[in-house]
Amino acid sequence: MNREALLYEGKAKKIFSTEDPDQVRVEYKDDATAFNGEKKGHIAGKGELNNRISAFFFEYLGGKGVRHHFLRTLSPREQLVKHVTILPVEVVVRNRAAGSLASRLGLEEGREFSRPVVEFYLKDDKLGDPLINEDHIALLQLATEEQVTGMREAALQVNQHLSVLMAEKEIILVDFKLEFGVDSQGELLLADEISPDTCRFWDRQTYEKLDKDRFRRDLGHVEDAYREIWHRLGGEAHV
Ligand code: UDP
Repeated sequence: MNREALLYEGKAKKIFSTEDPDQVRVEYKDDATAFNGEKKGHIAGKGELNNRISAFFFEYLGGKGVRHHFLRTLSPREQLVKHVTILPVEVVVRNRAAGSLASRLGLEEGREFSRPVVEFYLKDDKLGDPLINEDHIALLQLATEEQVTGMREAALQVNQHLSVLMAEKEIILVDFKLEFGVDSQGELLLADEISPDTCRFWDRQTYEKLDKDRFRRDLGHVEDAYREIWHRLGGEAHV
């Protein structure tokens, strides 16, 4: 399968077409950005770790019946996925207060919620990815009502499965962001990536942050934290 054209280059990934119009190749980069692109950095080894971690989570969730875009790993930093049209909505699920929710509502970081909170954000860098609700999604025709229901249900399922999995690894799943796409058959699929770039993971004993907040807040040892996640998931020790 040849690399054909670069279809898209984002902050952390490049997407290439393949000879099959229904499949694309994703290459995970070592670049990192935060605060809507204001903070930029390079984290050696991040691309490879996120490629592996994301593949692991997609396969795990697939085994639990979650429909997703992942097909297979191609190389240490590349994976093959179904070609989907990404819906311009980010779906965030939160189990504890952190990040923008903690600041917006004045909640103490780490406060545990009795039920998960699902939020939608408009994927639009120029507008700074604003928080939106289901009426805004309908107004802007970002997704159908059925797709919104499907995204909410899938996001809660992902939360349930990943919270249990991570708890077994002594990790708290604080919150995470998902993206969904629609394939050539019109099916809604979980897409993009699931990694320490898109999730908050805290060690259950020490509350140590094992995710991108280490980069956002200049806490250092970013790559070590990502590697720790990979190792706790059972990944090969040499990576
Ligand atoms: N998140 C993400 N991409 C974004 C915004 C948020 O992956 O563009 C993830 C973030 O890593 C965290 C969750 O979504 O796990 C909730 O993020 P929050 O809204 O608190 O955003 P922050 O302002 O901290 O990026």
